[in-house]
Amino acid sequence: MTETAQAPAGNETNEITRITHWIGGRPVEGASGRSGPVYNPATGEQTGAVDLATVEEVDAAVAAAKEAFPAWRQVSLARRAELMFRIRQLVHERREEVARILTAEHGKVLSDAMGEVTRGLEVIEFCCGIPHLLKGGMSEQASTGIDVYSIRQPLGVVAGITPFNFPAMVPMWMWAPALACGNTFVLKPSEKDPSASMWTAELLKEAGVPDGVFNVVHGDKVAVDRVLEHPDVSAVSFVGSTPIARYVYETGTKAGKRVQALGGAKNHMIVLPDADVDMAADAAVSAAYGSAGERCMAVSQVVAVGDVAEPLIEAIKARIPKVKVGNGLDPESEMGPLVTREHRDKVASYIEGAPEEGATVVVDGRESAPEGNGFFLGVSLIDDLRPGMRAYDDEIFGPVLGVTRVGTYEEAIRLVNENPYGNGTAIFTRDGGVARQFQFDVQAGMVGINVPIPVPVAYYSFGGWKASLFGDTHIYGPEGITFYTRGKVVTSRWPDPATSKVDLGFPQTR
Ligand code: NAD
Repeated sequence: MTETAQAPAGNETNEITRITHWIGGRPVEGASGRSGPVYNPATGEQTGAVDLATVEEVDAAVAAAKEAFPAWRQVSLARRAELMFRIRQLVHERREEVARILTAEHGKVLSDAMGEVTRGLEVIEFCCGIPHLLKGGMSEQASTGIDVYSIRQPLGVVAGITPFNFPAMVPMWMWAPALACGNTFVLKPSEKDPSASMWTAELLKEAGVPDGVFNVVHGDKVAVDRVLEHPDVSAVSFVGSTPIARYVYETGTKAGKRVQALGGAKNHMIVLPDADVDMAADAAVSAAYGSAGERCMAVSQVVAVGDVAEPLIEAIKARIPKVKVGNGLDPESEMGPLVTREHRDKVASYIEGAPEEGATVVVDGRESAPEGNGFFLGVSLIDDLRPGMRAYDDEIFGPVLGVTRVGTYEEAIRLVNENPYGNGTAIFTRDGGVARQFQFDVQAGMVGINVPIPVPVAYYSFGGWKASLFGDTHIYGPEGITFYTRGKVVTSRWPDPATSKVDLGFPQTR
């Protein structure tokens, strides 16, 4: 899978690991001559160089998946379920191994990385029930002597394109249901933290997944564009930022593919005056700064209603100095660095620009970043943010929590519903009636009531509304099974030859 390459100029001391593709059940070195740097964000050092695929390399991965499909489709549901159980067991046993890879390339703290793997495992566990999930319906005697039944069949070769922020879990959202449904798979992971995908490929092989059923091609736009136009790719799942999600959806569907493309987010957490302030502050701090805010379900905006604003901001402020920022391998650390230097600097630019736009920087994370070459930023709190300000309108994707003060619940819900994104949202209140009204009113796909990060359990499906999802189906859970299969309805008659006759009329139920 990997081999040590020579360090580029200026990095004499550090060994660089080469990260190759995985095609047809084995590592395949890229021949493009192009590679992308992979960093340890906690030290700022380049640790890897990932091969960036050519069109031909994507074609080779798709060809391997196409070749493997007919035999994989034939594997019985019982055998596929058995394999999912084996995969589940192996991932469970080795979860710390992959968590360490996540921390090394993404930067998130080890406990958070373990949490990522655990949530991904839930999806694999759901897929262990594939015989039940693929059960069709049957109507005996729909017409006299005629039975009608429905079945769901795999699509063929399907592809997944994934973001940097959950390098193990988001691919699991895709490959686990795709394979369980009988498809073969090509994964194009984020080039920023690609090693978890190679770990997955080796694990699946060890579990007994036949060669060619799961393939990995690393790359950038060249690889993505080839996946989107390749005639042998039937469906594409994408998770990433909104502009690319829209592009993937439009390009993929134009090429005749089924596409689900999940995009970015701006998740608002409304806090009503009757809420428990300490509980709301704990939730806001955990949900805003966990994983350095690099979660599509992070709370990035608190909407403080009425006179809860002052005590809430004070309670959040009091918690901020206690958040321990540091190397994710240090068990004391609660928040790690950002993924790249460029991203860290972009996040910092929002703090820089906020006062000019009329907002108030209450806590400036630039002042508390750990020293060294790591891509660290401390946590920030910005008050008085409003629509029209850059730090409000953009998905910052960093440890920056904004606060907007409003007078009423109606103003708060309008703010959420007028936002172009609709991924997650939450309300904190003790009033069941208002919470129920919120659930009815709010335009978002995932709603928390006194729960700040309402990521659905694996037997529901995950997905946002508006600019947070392009396509018709949410990901994993029952909708994932729908996405990765096609329905077929069979109308069948086993006539008694004694009653057979010619009838040219249009078939009617009798
Ligand atoms: P990204 O959009 O930059 O990259 C996602 C994937 O698209 C990567 O594999 C990347 O190589 C590819 N890509 C990037 N630029 C491309 C281009 N111009 N053409 C074709 N392909 C391209 O996203 P990211 O920075 O890796 O991840 C963070 C984003 O993902 C955030 O916006 C976050 O909200 C979102 N996200 C959403 C969800 C969700 O479920 N809705 C979950 C996780 C992350």
